[in-house]
This record gives sequence, structure tokens and C-alpha cells, in this order.
Amino acid sequence: MNCDEIRELTPDRLDALLDDERARAVDDHIASCAGCSAERASYGRFRAALYAPYPVPAHAPAAHRRGGAGAGLVRYAAAFAAGVLLTLVVQSARAAAPPPPPDRPVAEPVSETPPPVLVPRRIA
Ligand SMILES: [Zn+2]
Repeated sequence: MNCDEIRELTPDRLDALLDDERARAVDDHIASCAGCSAERASYGRFRAALYAPYPVPAHAPAAHRRGGAGAGLVRYAAAFAAGVLLTLVVQSARAAAPPPPPDRPVAEPVSETPPPVLVPRRIA
């Protein structure tokens, strides 16, 4: 696998979603590739921050403290915002990458047969 494929699989590797063979291939590549190793570490830090409990100041309203009424909603909103952020980061990274080469002609060949001509019927 090349670096692009490894970087695409790294999130799934961290979430333990790959089969043993692909997990080993990702691990072996990351062990020998400085670029992918740095990418994995960066994603790992982002992921750790995403799942870490966020600090709540002591003077925050009771609803924002752990276990208070509405705490679940606040945590849900924070997780949702983090998910949106992750989506934007991934999309901007993909947009920055050059497009893959087309493996087939971009345009279909034009048909030689002209389209049928529709003639309006005269109503008597
Ligand atoms: Zn690599």
C-alpha cells in the first residue's frame, strides 16, 4: 500500500475496524514511514482531544457540570461540534490533494445517430 492508502486507513486502524491483515500492513508501513507516522500521531492527538472530557470551570452553571441537568445535552453538542470540525478538516485535506488520474475517457463518445425529430400534429 502507498502512503495515500495508509493515511486513508489510519482512522479505521485506530478504531480497530480493520481485519488483521490490513491492520498489520498499516502498522508495518507506519513503522517504516516518517510521514505516515507523523500523520498517525497527529490524528491520534486529535482523536484523544475529541474523546477527552472537556474541562468545566467551577463557576459554570450547574447544568454544565458533570451529572447536572442538561449535562448530556451539552456533551452531545460538544461532540457534534467536534464531529463537524473533523468532517471539515478531512474534506479540506481531500480538496487540497491533487485529483486522481482518470482511468477512462472523461467524455462518452458522441452518438452518430441524430436524435428523432418530433413533428407537432395538426389538430383538425
Ligand atoms: Zn507512508
